Formats: sequence, C-alpha cells, structure tokens
Amino acid sequence: MDIIIFGATGSIGQNALEVIRCQRESHSLRVKAITGNDNIDQLCKDAIEFKVERVVATNHKHMPELKDRLSSHGIEACAGTEAILETAQMKADWVLSAIIGFHGVPPTLEAIKYCKTVAIANKESLVCAGKIANDSAKMYGTTLLPVDSEHNAIFQCLQGEDINTVRKVILTASGGPFLNSSLREMENATLDQALAHPTWSMGKRISIDSATMFNKALELIEAKYFFNLSDSQLDVIIHPESIIHSMVSFHDNSILAQLGPHDMKCAIAYTMNYPDRNPLPLKEIDFAAQAKLTFEAADHNRFPALRLARWILKSDGSLGAVFNAAKEVALDRFISGEIRFLDMSRLVETVLMLPDITKLEHKIPESLDEVKSINGWVRRITKEIKLNDN
Ligand code: NDP
Ligand code: MG
Repeated sequence: MDIIIFGATGSIGQNALEVIRCQRESHSLRVKAITGNDNIDQLCKDAIEFKVERVVATNHKHMPELKDRLSSHGIEACAGTEAILETAQMKADWVLSAIIGFHGVPPTLEAIKYCKTVAIANKESLVCAGKIANDSAKMYGTTLLPVDSEHNAIFQCLQGEDINTVRKVILTASGGPFLNSSLREMENATLDQALAHPTWSMGKRISIDSATMFNKALELIEAKYFFNLSDSQLDVIIHPESIIHSMVSFHDNSILAQLGPHDMKCAIAYTMNYPDRNPLPLKEIDFAAQAKLTFEAADHNRFPALRLARWILKSDGSLGAVFNAAKEVALDRFISGEIRFLDMSRLVETVLMLPDITKLEHKIPESLDEVKSINGWVRRITKEIKLNDN
C-alpha cells in the first residue's frame, strides 16, 4: 500500500509513522512522501528511515538543508505550498491529512481528487469546506475516513448500521485542564496551564483548543459533515477518563460506544487497515484498575465555544470557515500573550456577530478559492478587533 503523510513531523504524523513501523513488514506498507514545516531534523530522519521518494517542507528556507541531507539517499527534496499540493497529485492508496489548522485544507481537498482513501485528522478541512470535500469524494470515488478519536469511534459504532436509525451521536470530551476550575481561575489561566492536558498527548494548538473546548466545538461541526447529521442529533458529554471515545444512540434506545486507550495510534491504525483490524502493541485497558467511568454535563458558561458551535451547526453556509479563522487568530493572540484565556471565545463571538459575517450564514462556499478568501478576510478582521476589558 502506497502512503503519503501530510504533517508527518507533528503529533499525529509521528504516531502514524509508529503504526507503520509496527505493521510495514507484515502489510507491505510503503511511505512515498512526507511533509513538514519547520522540524527539518525529524523530517530528514524519517525520510531516510522510511526510504521515501519525496520530502516537502512548506518553508522555502529549509531547501538547502533538505537537499544537503537527502540527495545522497536519492530522495527528492521540495519546498513550498505548491509542492505540497503537487505531492497530493502523486497518487496513493492511503493519505493521512495531519497538517495543523487551515494550512491543511488545500492539500486535503487536492488529495481527495487523486488518492483512493484520505484519512482526515485535519478537522479544519470539514469545518471549513465540508460540503466541497464530501461532493468531491463522491465525484472522484474517494473514501474519507475519520482519524479524530471521537469520529473514528462513531464510525466504528456505525459499521453495519443504517444511518437513518441513528437518533443521536454523543461526542465525549475529557473536559481538559480547566474542567474543575472557576471562571475567575480560567480568566487568568496561563499558557502552560492551558497546555497541560490531563489525558491526551497532542500538538500545542489542539491542546489549547481542548482547554477552551474549541476543539470539541470544531468536532461537532466535523461530525455534522462526516455523518450528515443535524444539529439536534449532536451532543457532547464530559467524560474525564477519556476511555469511551464517543457513542451512537439509535432510535430503539440502544447505545453503542467505542472504548480504547487514549492513544491516537488506535484510530490511525483503524483507518489504515480498514475494514480489517491488525494487531497493535498497546497497553490493554485494565477495567478493575480503572474502577469507574464518569460523566457530567458540559458547562456552556465556562466553555462558550460549545454554545457558539450551535450557531454554526444550525447554519448551512460559510460560518464554519469564519468560526475556524476567528478561532485560529484568537489562539495566536492568546499564545503571544496579547489576550487572556477567556478572551478567545469573546473574540470569536464578537466576529460571529458582525453584520457582514451573519450574512454568510446561508452562503454555501462553492470552491476552495471562496473558502480561502473568507479565511483571509476573517483573519484580517479578527486581528484588528480590540476587546473591552471587563
Ligand atoms: P502538530 O502541531 O503536532 O503538527 C502539525 C503538523 O503540521 C506538523 O507536521 C507541522 O510541521 C505541520 N505544519 C505546521 N505549520 C504548517 C504550515 N504552515 N504548512 C504546512 N504544514 C505545517 O499538530 P497535531 O498533530 O496535534 O494535529 C494535526 C491535525 O490533527 C490538526 O488538525 C488536529 O486538530 C488534528 N488532530 C490531532 C490530534 C492529536 O492527538 N494531536 C487528535 C485529533 C485530531 P513542523 O512540525 O515540521 O513544523
Ligand atoms: Mg478529538
């Protein structure tokens, strides 16, 4: 099986390479191409270990180092976003879309046109361009598989089921580092506190998105497009142990859940081997030691991102791209120390309420160019908004 990994140097990308290390001998896996941005050392080491054909770094400044380290191994070195798109055109059986943020959207859409199966970790692709991705997958006969643990769980629960019998899907959320914090504590939360996820080990940006629950908000929108569900069919429940990855409730009141260790290798391997299941050397869950699984309602007051997601779920237009762009800029502004933790959701809400933005509620984006232009425009607006101190 020929494989391309977009975002190979990231948390998901590295987990995928680990799965391939475990299974490559027994399942003839061949990594054709990998991409990264700035972590050139990791990119070169992996390129040589996996004997890839092509390596791409988005950032042009790394080209001399890439050439220097890879040419003697017969590996083609490229740089720039155009080269990323061309890599999607190389064709592969299984492509992993694991670039972080909006940067991952164009290569995902390109891979859908050229590759057999696209495993989507980059949730932004469906949040910003869900209809375009689904229409294109249908047109090119491409299979889209969900890597995000919640969506992967839902997908597993739906095997052999009729989607019309689904009453609800229930996404679980760990609650992040501020599950039991007061609003006051959250107001003054530091970057280090926001990064300290209690159960999952992930990249920096998604860890902070988990602390605000913007990650869960994006996942609600992602689920709408992955499974073609309505707002009223999507729920979130806090489950701090992160053992149940999500559940599907059917109209006969049966509920199926998928459980597993909090390790992204499970979901990645499932999409890589689908519809088979191949062995993965992970620690088994010890239920006796685990002792209990708990649940609680999500607090929309402390986690406004969940409330804001409902606006997007109710609309069929471009608000997903707006929401994501505003969230990405809010996150940049928090990381740089310019705004406080709870200002992130205030900023996104302010953007969503702008009259020019509400007009986009029912304007469905038809092309990637349209999505890119909304993304660029909303990013510019969000950078300039000043929040009143309160
Ligand atoms: P990381 O930040 O760990 O990695 C991101 C990857 O994207 C790296 O390879 C990075 O390159 C690359 N990258 C960064 N900036 C750019 C850019 N401008 N252009 C092209 N590539 C770029 O992210 P994660 O692995 O945590 O997340 C990746 C995606 O998967 C996200 O959409 C996230 O929401 C989703 N996801 C992640 C989960 C997790 O457990 N981490 C769980 C479920 C979904 P480099 O490192 O070389 O700079
Ligand atoms: Mg997730």
